Amino acid sequence: MNINNIYIQNIPSFCNNTLAISILRADLIDPVVSGNKWFKLQYYVLDAITAGKSTLATFGGPYSNHIVATSKYGASMGLQTVGFIRGEKPPKLSPTLTDAMENGMTLHFISRADFLDPKKIMEENKHASWAWIPEGGYGIKGAEGASSLLTIKNTQGFDTIICAVGTGTMMAGIIKAAAPHQKIIGISVLKNNFSIDTEINALLTTEESKKNFEVIHGYDFGGYAKHTPALIKYMNECYNNMDLPLDFVYTAKLLYAAKDLATKGKFELSSKILLIHSGGLQGNRSFKKGTLIY
Ligand SMILES: *Cc1c(COP(=O)(O)O)cnc(C)c1O
Repeated sequence: MNINNIYIQNIPSFCNNTLAISILRADLIDPVVSGNKWFKLQYYVLDAITAGKSTLATFGGPYSNHIVATSKYGASMGLQTVGFIRGEKPPKLSPTLTDAMENGMTLHFISRADFLDPKKIMEENKHASWAWIPEGGYGIKGAEGASSLLTIKNTQGFDTIICAVGTGTMMAGIIKAAAPHQKIIGISVLKNNFSIDTEINALLTTEESKKNFEVIHGYDFGGYAKHTPALIKYMNECYNNMDLPLDFVYTAKLLYAAKDLATKGKFELSSKILLIHSGGLQGNRSFKKGTLIY
C-alpha cells in the first residue's frame, strides 16, 4: 500500500481534446486495498487501534472491494478481521473471498434475509474487543477519511469533480473537502436510488450540505453490478486509448456517464474536470477470462 503512487493523469483524448479532463489515479495505492476503500477505512482502523480493539468486523457481498480491503489493511495494522458475507456459503468461494481468507479474515455467511438486519448480526456477535465497520464503510468516519482524496494532490485548479456513488460515503467526503468554486457531481451506480441525497446529507454538516453538489441517476446500466456488452466494450476502449483499467461496477459507469454528459453539453468548454478513479477492480474477477483485455 503506497499512497505516493497516486497521481493526476491528463486524459485529453477522453472527449477528443474538446475538454480539459484529468483523472485522479487513486486505484494505484494497492491492487487490493485500492482507491477509496483505503481512504474510507483509515479512521475506522486508527480509532479501533486507539480504543485498544483487536478485531475489525464488517459486512459485504462475495465480490466486495470493502471486504478484501478490510482484510488486507486490517492485517497490515496487526488487527484480526471478521467478515459477515451476504448469502449462503457457495460450493466455490469467489476469488475476492479466497483472498480475504488468505489475508486472515474469518468469514461468516449470512442468509440474504438476515443480512438486511446488520443491527441484529452485531447484537448476536457482541465482543468487547471488536470494532464494527458499517457495510461499504458508510458513516462519518468513512467520509472524513475519503475527504483526503481531494487533498492528497493539488486539486484546487479543478472546478468540476466527478465520482462514482455507491453508499455516497466517498462523495460526502469529497464534498467536505471541496472549495467554494468546485462543483461535485456523483454518478449513482444503483438504480433509482433516490434516497442517496438524504444518505449523503446525513454525513455532512448543515454548512457542508449547502455546497454545490448533485447526484445524477440513469447511468446504472440496469442496476448495481449489472452490465451490458456496450459497457464492456467501453472498458476495453478506455484501456486501449488511455491506459485506464476500469471496473464494471463503479468506474466504468463513471467514465461512461462523464463522456455522455460532456457530449450533451453538461460542462462549460472552459471547465477543468477531475474524475476520481476510486479503484475497486474486484468485480472484474467475476468475468470469464478474455472478456476484458486487461
Ligand atoms: C466502493 C466503491 C465506490 C463507492 O463508494 P461509496 O463511498 O460507497 O459511494 C466507488 N468506486 C469504487 C471503485 C468502489 O470500490
